[in-house]
Amino acid sequence: MSRKITEIYCPNCGAPAKFDIVRQMYVCGYCGGQVGIKEALQEKQGFRMIHRERMNDSFKSYRLMQANCSGCGATLVFEENEALSNCAFCGRSLVRTEYLSAKNMPETVIPFKVTENEAKDLLAKWCDENKGKAEARKLKSLIPELKGFYLPYELVRGPVDMTVSRMDRGSRYDCEGFINDEFVNRSSQLDNLLLDGMEPFDMEDITEFDFAYIAGQRVKISDISDKDLEDRVKKETAQTYIPSLSKTMESKALDVYTDVSSAFRLPTLLPVYYISKGDVMAAVNGQTGKVSVRALKDSHFYFIPWWFKAILSTLAFSLVLFMALVGFGADKASAMLITGLTALVFIIVTLCYYSDTSRNAFSVVSGRKIFTSGEKTFRRENGNLVLSDEILQRKVMEPVFFKKIKDTWTPVILKFTTPGRVAKMAVYCLVALFLPVILALLINGFNFKQLELGGSAVWFCIAVPTVPIYLLKFGIEELYERPLVYTINEDGKKKRYREFPKINIDKSVVKDILRAVFIPPASLAVWFGIACFFVMVYLTAFGFD
Ligand SMILES: [Zn+2]
Ligand SMILES: [Zn+2]
Repeated sequence: MSRKITEIYCPNCGAPAKFDIVRQMYVCGYCGGQVGIKEALQEKQGFRMIHRERMNDSFKSYRLMQANCSGCGATLVFEENEALSNCAFCGRSLVRTEYLSAKNMPETVIPFKVTENEAKDLLAKWCDENKGKAEARKLKSLIPELKGFYLPYELVRGPVDMTVSRMDRGSRYDCEGFINDEFVNRSSQLDNLLLDGMEPFDMEDITEFDFAYIAGQRVKISDISDKDLEDRVKKETAQTYIPSLSKTMESKALDVYTDVSSAFRLPTLLPVYYISKGDVMAAVNGQTGKVSVRALKDSHFYFIPWWFKAILSTLAFSLVLFMALVGFGADKASAMLITGLTALVFIIVTLCYYSDTSRNAFSVVSGRKIFTSGEKTFRRENGNLVLSDEILQRKVMEPVFFKKIKDTWTPVILKFTTPGRVAKMAVYCLVALFLPVILALLINGFNFKQLELGGSAVWFCIAVPTVPIYLLKFGIEELYERPLVYTINEDGKKKRYREFPKINIDKSVVKDILRAVFIPPASLAVWFGIACFFVMVYLTAFGFD
């Protein structure tokens, strides 16, 4: 079996070792052999050194040219006899010089599998299938201009440390993941979204780079700074993980900070057919045949703030309810009262529901849509391109959350809004709203006939507006900021971990309370309030007569 560049192999038996997120090391599935993160990184560095020397040797047997674009700064490397007059990315003229050093060449490559003519056919097919689009009509006449390039990418593979938080709330949670095949574009001129559109690539074909791959092809040289590359790597890794993180975090609006220093990185060339003429931009994946076309014009996306959505839906709901009540013969005054009270409950629910997003202001975002030929890709069989039965998918390992428990980082499961917690919250609210009524029922022996709700009118006047505010402020905070934490036992069972908060009694608060209860005149008001409450309970329990 040939060894793949991207795999880490077991030092004992030579089988590929898979990464174990919980143990934070590569573990062999056959014999249990282990490779630490540091050793894995060193092994890859070793490979790069050996490869570099080999490349310097083989470089001497090729005569290569380099062309620099005077417009966009793109640099291309190609064989001496290649006719290149204008830059394919911006149309300006190119300055040719001899290519003198192998140092800008990457270590790995995914070779072209789709020929130039096949790529043109695939693009023509996309145009035929999308006749209604202005992009297809304009693109069709430009298809002869489609050219193949090996584009510079950075392959990132390995463990990722992440810190994640919701955009609208503070608490940060630590978790670990593993990315298999993140390809980060290293060109400054090319449209990132367009290139994303024709991904993914199939990692099966990745191999060591050799100058023989340049024959008849053009290679684009990486031209972004190390800092820009770092930013792109972090950003794209975070983007890749957001879908799986949002399941635990119960929100898509996440801030994810990633540290990819434990992952190994390999500069890679990827095969891409590219066309850029005026506002027409299209790419065809040179390995899988997937087509990606950029829209000619900007699209506008409108965002409205979350609280506005809550108000709008409450208004709509109230209007329908009011009409229905009047329609069923209720008089306007009671319909109004019922609608008002229901609207109050409704707005609490919708505010909680929509507060998930962090969009607090009206905004318009513009961007170009990317059209693609879909998830189906091609493979080569007996010399022909055939549709593949398998759908290529970007693979990421499910993230594992960690928490420092007694000074050791322990893998945990976090749960935020479980049905049980939401139900508990609802019960607290009902108790707060109906406290005097509940006490009244207790003292009159659950005699509902005798119950006089009017006795608690004052209480309702205070509780109805304050309970929702407290619920929003503290209840939602409790749900989202203090998740249930479970640790996993050795037998795989979940176990609830309870953190006992340190109770700090603030002396000044105690003093204030004692003063309010015992020292007049404040204490008089407090005792008067308490007395009123009990009168209210009594009146509610036994009526006014
Ligand atoms: Zn092994
Ligand atoms: Zn250019």
